Amino acid sequence: MQFESLGLSKNILRAVAEKGYTKASPIQEKAIPLILEGKDILASAQTGTGKTAGFTLPMLHLLETQESTKKRHKPKALILTPTRELAAQIYDNILEYSKYLDIKSTVIFGGVNQKPQVRALRNGIDILVATPGRLLDLHSQEVFSFSEIEFLVLDEADRMLDMGFLRDINKIMALLPKKRQNLLFSATFSKEIKTLASKFLHNPAMVAVTPENSTVDKIKQHVIRVDKNKKSALLIKLITDDNWQQALVFTRTKHGANRLTKKLIAKGISAAAIHGNKSQGARTKALAGFKDGSIRVMVATDIAARGLDIPLLPHVVNFELPNIPEDYVHRIGRTGRAGADGVAMSLVSSEETAYLRDIEKLLQEKLPYSEIEGFETTEDFSKIQKPQRKPQQGRRPRRNTNRR
Ligand code: AMP
Repeated sequence: MQFESLGLSKNILRAVAEKGYTKASPIQEKAIPLILEGKDILASAQTGTGKTAGFTLPMLHLLETQESTKKRHKPKALILTPTRELAAQIYDNILEYSKYLDIKSTVIFGGVNQKPQVRALRNGIDILVATPGRLLDLHSQEVFSFSEIEFLVLDEADRMLDMGFLRDINKIMALLPKKRQNLLFSATFSKEIKTLASKFLHNPAMVAVTPENSTVDKIKQHVIRVDKNKKSALLIKLITDDNWQQALVFTRTKHGANRLTKKLIAKGISAAAIHGNKSQGARTKALAGFKDGSIRVMVATDIAARGLDIPLLPHVVNFELPNIPEDYVHRIGRTGRAGADGVAMSLVSSEETAYLRDIEKLLQEKLPYSEIEGFETTEDFSKIQKPQRKPQQGRRPRRNTNRR
């Protein structure tokens, strides 16, 4: 469907055309008219589906046509996201889509000096993109008021709950005006998400799309059996022998990410780690380097990588399998973007067999496996080994644990 038939204003369509989008994506086609009608939305959509424009464009349209926007003292729209990177990404999108509108927005998140954020808020804004912690912090300092919020977007709500933000979300919700339009985006629909949705959405319209990029059949999945202590050497061989231009490599822990990054750098492969213990500056720099091609390998933990918009990634490597099977699907969804084929490779040692079994159960298929010459495994794969740390019923560790 063409954007022109969705009922968006000329100024918005002009900015969209400049982005080079020719057709609305399925989530945009479904969500935009419903949001323009003022409906609450419960949407199942992952990064890569175009969901950001799906909620931003109609929100901008509604704000643009409101007289009250002209006053510009207090934020009218609040977009909550789990991570700083996602907040920054959404903010960048809003800036682009609103470039021909008289609408001001800003982004606030922790880990950086609050002064510029306070200044931006005091100057008056219409749209506020935020992570929950810094938002509550600045609100308690009376830097801004929630009293004119008309739109609330919870983006990647499942990840917010996984990261332990439920209490913060509830606190924020209690501070917002009762009458508002609510949009909830989530990649998965656990019991907890349904409970959250029932608490704050009013007669929501359900919108579901499967992301083009992560339809698993577009992605070639492959398991390589290898001894645990040979994984780094094997990865280095794969990158250099096959001359990979760029790869996103997942580890289970922050320490694992740091260790691997050091080994890659020592072999002359430009690499950077991205995880929750890195300063915001380091994370932004790593992401920018990866996007401009100066960094060849980005080593990431699940939480840090989630929601990052990195287009057209040819290689995703699971250096270690995740202990939560759904994370595997999120990880491999980072390859084969925009319809291009991608390869997702998992380096699996014998102690990860139980994780592999759980992933195959979720995918409802057995993944093909092989060994690489010179790296034949000496470990015993015949028994399903118990994972050292059993995940509790699909729950993740809380945000202040030191694992990711
Ligand atoms: P998102 O799922 O919002 O993170 O968007 C994923 C990527 O798709 C971003 O790089 C967007 O700029 C891009 N995108 C969003 N909408 C469209 C569209 N209608 N046509 C082409 N690309 C789009």
